[in-house]
Amino acid sequence: MDMQLKDKIACITGGSVGIGLGIAKELANEGTHLALCARNEERLQDVADQIRSEFKVKVLAVKADVSKMEDIQNFVKEIERSYGGADILVNNAGTGSAEKIMTAPDEKWYSYWDLHVMAAIRTARLLVPFMKKRGGGAIVNIASVCAKQPLDYEPIYNTTKAALVMFTKCLANELVHDHIHVNSVCPGLIITPDWKKTASILSRDLGITPEEYLDRVAKDLAPISRFATPEELAKFIVFLCSPLASYCIGSSYYFDGGFIKSIL
Ligand code: NDP
Repeated sequence: MDMQLKDKIACITGGSVGIGLGIAKELANEGTHLALCARNEERLQDVADQIRSEFKVKVLAVKADVSKMEDIQNFVKEIERSYGGADILVNNAGTGSAEKIMTAPDEKWYSYWDLHVMAAIRTARLLVPFMKKRGGGAIVNIASVCAKQPLDYEPIYNTTKAALVMFTKCLANELVHDHIHVNSVCPGLIITPDWKKTASILSRDLGITPEEYLDRVAKDLAPISRFATPEELAKFIVFLCSPLASYCIGSSYYFDGGFIKSIL
């Protein structure tokens, strides 16, 4: 299927590893040029080099912490300088948390709010004017199954991802007549280097192998009893980035192997 993404420009936050890297590679495979950001510049530049040589697309790689307004402004300036704007925005940068509501300080709430919600608001505010001038575009916000079905150990993650889903719905309605389709994706268990690292630490205490630990997590949480790969998820997200998905407006799509236990 021609996804009509050749020579489009896609901005992906947190594109240097895991799901963001998976999305970057799948878009590059469609001939889309990329603008990636992350905090660890060395890893980001390595990945950018790999993608350039494997897919023959342009890759702009900018060190940025998207929880900071000034870094987002600088990232968007670089995108304007290199490409004159962007057609696609994937707000992917994010991370889990671990706390209790009764003891977590305000600062922790604000830092996750900045990372999961304000980053998506700010990137949209700065990039949408370019999308409008280019005749339309697509925005995909990476939320989580936890936006709907909380995990007990991470209330701040659950709450901020739920806010991201609502922001997505509101933005979608605001931009629908500008031919910009906005959606969120709520992944379940996606195997990333970070999950593997967690498994290698927590499995030690349980006296099992990291693989056995991941197997246990998958069997406990997902009826499909396995993790998905970033590549599987990325193919789904590429569709949402495509003009072929222009009738998808403000929805949240679960990619979760049955993780969510309800139908509504
Ligand atoms: P990883 O930790 O593997 O990758 C995160 C990426 O985001 C890296 O490129 C990281 O680079 C970047 N990043 C993190 N913080 C910032 C920041 N403040 N500014 C800029 N870049 C940042 O995460 P995943 O691939 O697992 O997750 C990606 C998204 O998917 C997240 O939003 C996560 O909540 C969501 N998700 C993941 C699931 C999973 O099972 N893996 C399940 C559900 C949702 P660097 O550290 O160099 O900044």
